[in-house]
Amino acid sequence: MVEGFHSNSDEKVLKCKLEESGLVNTHSIMEKAVKWFESRSIFVVAYGTGCGAIEMPPTFTSRYDAERMGIVGVATPRQADVIILSGYLAYKTLRRVIRTYEQMQKPKYIITLGSCPINGGMYWDSYNTIKKLDDFLPVDVYVTGCMPRPESVIEGFVKLQKRIKEGQKCGWELYEENYDFYKTNQKRVLGEHILPSYETDWYNINGGGLG
Ligand code: SF4
Repeated sequence: MVEGFHSNSDEKVLKCKLEESGLVNTHSIMEKAVKWFESRSIFVVAYGTGCGAIEMPPTFTSRYDAERMGIVGVATPRQADVIILSGYLAYKTLRRVIRTYEQMQKPKYIITLGSCPINGGMYWDSYNTIKKLDDFLPVDVYVTGCMPRPESVIEGFVKLQKRIKEGQKCGWELYEENYDFYKTNQKRVLGEHILPSYETDWYNINGGGLG
């Protein structure tokens, strides 16, 4: 064997010895590495609502260049980790947002922009907007301001990355644990028929379809 190199079995022995000694917990090092990678691989679904959507283009393009921090946009919810709810939400928008959030794979996170998702903002007495989004979907990070600038949006991402790195409990876990609470609130404003059916058989639609 070349001097200075060691075999896989040598590595295993070294790893066991280090763990036995209590000096190094390699399992925890791996977990930390995974969380670090996760925090630097933030895929944001292309979605915008309210006035704050206009802050997205400068955040993601060359002026503020969010990609240097591992934050990139993607087209579909199934590939995304984050959805940004960038302002007020009408009830009919909420219906689509629930659908999108539920299509996202775990772990997944919600960032909101502005005061509207917190308390309705300037639409506090509107008949058709959400007053407290957290009753309907679990918010991980609120970025305040009306509307927040890209610097604030990036600060919101940094807070989310910190939460992920530290392994703090996140919204999707709360959503699962308190699913009945969220569904009851959603049905209160949207009725029983919350979402379009997932059951359409696109391959046999009208007896023909895609085959
Ligand atoms: S918080 Fe202000 S900027 Fe944001 S959606 Fe509401 S009114 Fe618009």
